[in-house]
Amino acid sequence: MPASRIAIVGAGLVGYTVARVLRAEGYAGEIVVVGAERHRPYDRPPLSKAYLHGEVDDGGLSLEAPGEHLDVDWRLGSAAVGLDASTRTLALADGSALTADHIVLATGAAPRRLPDVAMPVTGRGIAPLRPAAYVVGTIEDAADLRRALVPGTSVVVAGAGFVGLEVAATAAALGAASVTVVCADESPLRSAYGAEASAAVRALHERAGVRFVTGTRVSGVRRDGSGEPHGVVLADGRELEASVVVAGVGAVPATGWLADSGLRLTARGAVACDERGVAAPGVRAAGDCASWRDEPCAHWTRAREQAELVARDIVAPGAAAPSDAPAYVWSDQHGVRLQFAGRLRGGETATVEAGGIDTGDVFLVYRDDTGTEVAALGMDQVRLMMRWRKTHPAPLRPPGDAVAA
Ligand SMILES: Cc1cc2nc3c(=O)[nH]c(=O)nc-3n(C[C@H](O)[C@H](O)[C@H](O)COP(=O)(O)OP(=O)(O)OC[C@H]3O[C@@H](n4cnc5c(N)ncnc54)[C@H](O)[C@@H]3O)c2cc1C
Repeated sequence: MPASRIAIVGAGLVGYTVARVLRAEGYAGEIVVVGAERHRPYDRPPLSKAYLHGEVDDGGLSLEAPGEHLDVDWRLGSAAVGLDASTRTLALADGSALTADHIVLATGAAPRRLPDVAMPVTGRGIAPLRPAAYVVGTIEDAADLRRALVPGTSVVVAGAGFVGLEVAATAAALGAASVTVVCADESPLRSAYGAEASAAVRALHERAGVRFVTGTRVSGVRRDGSGEPHGVVLADGRELEASVVVAGVGAVPATGWLADSGLRLTARGAVACDERGVAAPGVRAAGDCASWRDEPCAHWTRAREQAELVARDIVAPGAAAPSDAPAYVWSDQHGVRLQFAGRLRGGETATVEAGGIDTGDVFLVYRDDTGTEVAALGMDQVRLMMRWRKTHPAPLRPPGDAVAA
C-alpha cells in the first residue's frame, strides 16, 4: 500500500494492538496514536485484581514488549475532542488538528459513577474531600482505591458485575473489616449466566466473608459533616454504612466527543460498525467503544481480535476473515479463575459436568432447546474450558441480537 498516515485514537489495548499488527503486516507509513492519558499503553484487567492488591506495579501493566519499537508518533495526554468523518480530520484538546488516510477509533469505555445524595456546604461551597465512590477505569483510579483499602475499612461495592466482584474479592483479601456487594439482580451474575453459575460465584464470595444485598441498587453516596463518604442509600430506602464506596456499575463507550462527527452511534453510545469494524469510509472502530453488527464488545479477548482484524483489513482489505471463536471472558476472584465462553440468549439449560457449585471448581455446559452446546463456564477448570473452546467455534456475527457475556 502507498505511504500514508493512520491515526489511532485511544492508546489502550486496541490502539496498541492495531499499531503493532500494522507494523507486523508490513505497513511502513506514518502511525499516530492519540491518547487522553499520559501513559504508554497499559493493560486494564489487573487494575481490579493484582494491581489493586499491590502484586503488580505500573511497569507490570505495560502492553509493550521489552525493547519493542513500533515507530509510532505517540501524542499522549491530549484527548481527541472532535472528528469530521467526511474529511477524516481530528481535533485534539491541545488545539491541533490531524488529518489521516485512515482513522481507527479505540477510545474504550469509561466507568459509570454514582451520584452524591447529600453534599455538605461549607463556607467555600461544596467541598468533597474524596470521591463519593471510587471507580476502577485507569491506573490513577486503581492507585487511589488501593490507598483507601487499608485493613479495617468497611467497603460497599455497588454492582455485582465482574469488576465489582473482583474489587470485593481484593478488598476482602486486603483485610477489610466488612465487604458488602449491592446487587440489582436477585443473585450476582444471575441474569447473565443463570442460577447455577450465580450460586457458585456467591458461595465463593461468602466463604471469604463477602456479604450480598440483592434485589436493589445504590441510589447515592452519603457524606458526613466533614465531607467524607460514610455510607450509601439504597433504592429501597435502606442505608448501609461504609468508609469506602466503590462503583462497579458498568461502563459507557467513550464516544461523547463524536456527537457531531457524522458517525452513527448506537443507543448505548457505541460507534455502529459493520462486521469488519468500518463505521464510515476510512473510519473504523474496535473494542469497547464499538458495536460490530449490533454486538457490543466489553471484554479483552474480543477487543484484541477486533483490533487485529482492523489492522489487517487496512493493509489488505478483505483478506482476513473475522474470528469464529465464541465470545470469551475471564475473571479472577479469591484466587479462582472464572471463565465463560459462548453466547447465551436466555432459556438455556446449564448442567454441572465437573466439580461442584459449592466447591469453587464447577464446570457448567449450557445447552439450548435443541440440545446444542452454546456456552460453558468454568471455575478453576482451565483445561476443560480450553478444550471446550477449541471444539466449539461459533460465528462472530450472531443471527440475532447482543451477547449476554
Ligand atoms: C478494571 C477492569 C478490569 C477488567 N478485567 C477484565 C477481565 O478480567 N477480563 C476481560 O476479558 N476483560 C476485562 N476488562 C475489560 C478489558 O480491559 C477491555 O475490554 C479492554 O481494555 C478494551 O480495550 P479498548 O482498547 O477498547 O479500551 P481501553 O483499554 O479502555 O483503552 C481506551 C483508551 O482510550 C483512551 N481514550 C478515551 N477517550 C479518548 C479520547 N477522546 N481521545 C484519546 N484517547 C481517549 C482511554 O484513556 C484509554 O487509554 C477489564 C476492564 C477494566 C476497566
